Amino acid sequence: MYGVICCPKCRFVTGVDLQFKTKKCIKCNYNINLKKVRVIFKTEDNNELGNLIKDTRKRVENGNLFVEP
Ligand SMILES: [Zn+2]
Repeated sequence: MYGVICCPKCRFVTGVDLQFKTKKCIKCNYNINLKKVRVIFKTEDNNELGNLIKDTRKRVENGNLFVEP
């Protein structure tokens, strides 16, 4: 299972493999605890993940990450 998360420090949006417990943010080097951060989207499909990341980045830019369209 894959997930889309947003770094709590710098708001960088990235995809993660949810079998891992932590993910280091490639932008600010913050060690993200995947148990504590909100997983914005989940998917089994690796191809879909790329689109979900793009969609989430747009939402973060627009400041409406937690608002449904
Ligand atoms: Zn970060």
